[in-house]
Amino acid sequence: WITARAGEVTARSFAGAVDPRDLDEAARRRRALLAELGARMGLAHLPKVEIVFSPSRRAAAQHRLAAGRAFAAAGRAEVIWPGAPDAYEARRPGHELAHLLAAYWDGAPAHLPLVEEGLAEVLDASGRDLHHAYAAARWADGAGGDPVAFTTDDLSGSDYGRAGSFVRSLVDRHGLTGLRALWPHLAVRYGGGRMWGADGTQIGSVAALEGFLDRALRAALGGDLATERAAWARALRPYLEAPEASLPDGDLVEIQRVIAAYDRAVTDGDIEGARAALDGFYCDVWDDGDRAALLSREVQRLEDAETKVLAVRRRGLRNYPEVVVHGVRRETMGGRSAYRAVTMWLEHFPVGWRLTGSTAWTP
Ligand SMILES: [Zn+2]
Repeated sequence: WITARAGEVTARSFAGAVDPRDLDEAARRRRALLAELGARMGLAHLPKVEIVFSPSRRAAAQHRLAAGRAFAAAGRAEVIWPGAPDAYEARRPGHELAHLLAAYWDGAPAHLPLVEEGLAEVLDASGRDLHHAYAAARWADGAGGDPVAFTTDDLSGSDYGRAGSFVRSLVDRHGLTGLRALWPHLAVRYGGGRMWGADGTQIGSVAALEGFLDRALRAALGGDLATERAAWARALRPYLEAPEASLPDGDLVEIQRVIAAYDRAVTDGDIEGARAALDGFYCDVWDDGDRAALLSREVQRLEDAETKVLAVRRRGLRNYPEVVVHGVRRETMGGRSAYRAVTMWLEHFPVGWRLTGSTAWTP
């Protein structure tokens, strides 16, 4: 391990993986940001925080470290090294720091994940417009339905786009002082695989989530969830109607090239070639063996494959910029060709755009 200190911030990483001068710089940048966020959040004292940087998600998994998570009770965040300019930690260094600081508003280690994640998005220091980010993510996913309706995803706060947009609306209306007033009412605890609110209710459904949120808003801010939701919908509406900015031509060309190279390798029975389209691929749940099995299945299943790309939409919720590609794939099996709609996910790793997922991979 190597360690760098800057005021309240201790930064650690693997010896040999990171230049100590870069770790010093990362610690200093986070110390400055910690002070800035602490001031905005009205904290009188800055807590000591530790940030553990893994050089890659693969290395994090091997060392049983998280790839972007704050442990508020321990005052520690485990993140991926921000070595690439468009890496998550380079662009949104405030996200995990906000989680660590928010615990000091009321001393409770956990809060309703929807609002906790949304607040971390609001304070992530990326300069993004979170209503635009949410609208863009919905556009990329082809999501229908009511954009301000919560779903079971919101129980875990895993839809960062919706969480960020919702909390931005709360902060626009009530300021961070309003969020601070709301905080003790949003404390939760976990037991027996369930989440319980500070008021003793179990939060296991969308209805329970909305009830908990509604009571918290009434107690802290006077208004109710219906009022907040209507205001959020009004603020979000123009973004949902605005067209999505397109990707630079160079990215579009590279994305199409990677998909074509993957299809060609599958057609040629070239497992190594197909593997190259996934280069830089990490996975939280799959290892190299799973990946090899996936590719040999593709190669055995198909005699020929060719994808026509119909739309490339930015998503940007992973460690690096992400796109969703919608297309039509011609697949030939047993001498017969069939066309299928296919959705692919690509991420812009430091080595370039690479495939990370495809609906064609699930038979
Ligand atoms: Zn988070």
